[in-house]
Amino acid sequence: MGIAQPEDSPISESALPAVATSSLGPEPWKAPWWRPAKGDRATFFYLMLINLLAIAGVIFFPMPGWKIAAVTFALIWVGGMGVTVGYHRSLAHTSVRLHPIVRHALIFFAMFNGSGAPDSWTANHRQHHAKVETPEDISSPWIGGFWWSHLRWLWQAGNVPLQRWCPDLDQPQYRFWNRMQIPILAVSLFGGLAFGWTAFFWLGPMRLAASLHLQCFINSIAHMRPGRTDGEDSSQNITWLGFLHMFQGENWHGNHHAKPWSARFGWKVWQLDFGWYAIVLLEAVGLAAKVRRPF
Ligand SMILES: [Zn+2]
Ligand SMILES: [Zn+2]
Repeated sequence: MGIAQPEDSPISESALPAVATSSLGPEPWKAPWWRPAKGDRATFFYLMLINLLAIAGVIFFPMPGWKIAAVTFALIWVGGMGVTVGYHRSLAHTSVRLHPIVRHALIFFAMFNGSGAPDSWTANHRQHHAKVETPEDISSPWIGGFWWSHLRWLWQAGNVPLQRWCPDLDQPQYRFWNRMQIPILAVSLFGGLAFGWTAFFWLGPMRLAASLHLQCFINSIAHMRPGRTDGEDSSQNITWLGFLHMFQGENWHGNHHAKPWSARFGWKVWQLDFGWYAIVLLEAVGLAAKVRRPF
């Protein structure tokens, strides 16, 4: 199944390795969930850590006060914009060209909410579209089940070949962010400690775990359309997920798979899409160009 890229697609058909290979074998979803693939131990440890600490935070520090709550939600919001506008629409699908300052600010906030470096995110995502609902789709719930699609692929699917999927990001401006990943994540996770334990749990693990699961819902439940026939793309729009996503647009995932090159995910007026509104605004002030519209 093709990725339906526009004519100037950065992805070239070539003899480069096509897909991720996992040290856990050709069907890594059959391995025990707690066994990370080679090279993914740190990812596994980090994800377990933030989830366990987030649970502890909910139990022991349930009431943050309005200042900590406001900063937490603001960071989730701007991190979500970093992912949907910066990583997803701009880098992975080249559906909009952002001014470098906007692009790199969005990359920073996407990384600050734990979404990883721009090249690996882009490569994983392009392989997902190109191989959707096949064993080569890194996160299909129809292949590996709910937990595979929601979380396990992050530490068990192996590494997607970057040169195959995102040669366009093999530039110093993006490689820079690979070196920044651990320092940014360290500040993101532990920075709240400077303001006490409540701030630590809310600004660190609770915010990071919330951002993680909000994003992972797109790989899991947004790909579990009932009534889908074998081999068919199972992406779907989920309105209620929009409330959790503060209507940044990712919940219109069925729309998105139908026209992945479009910068607009919410096609109807009532399909709120703040990622799209941000792009329109940036375009109006000259900070975004080459915006691809669905119609
Ligand atoms: Zn998808
Ligand atoms: Zn996409």
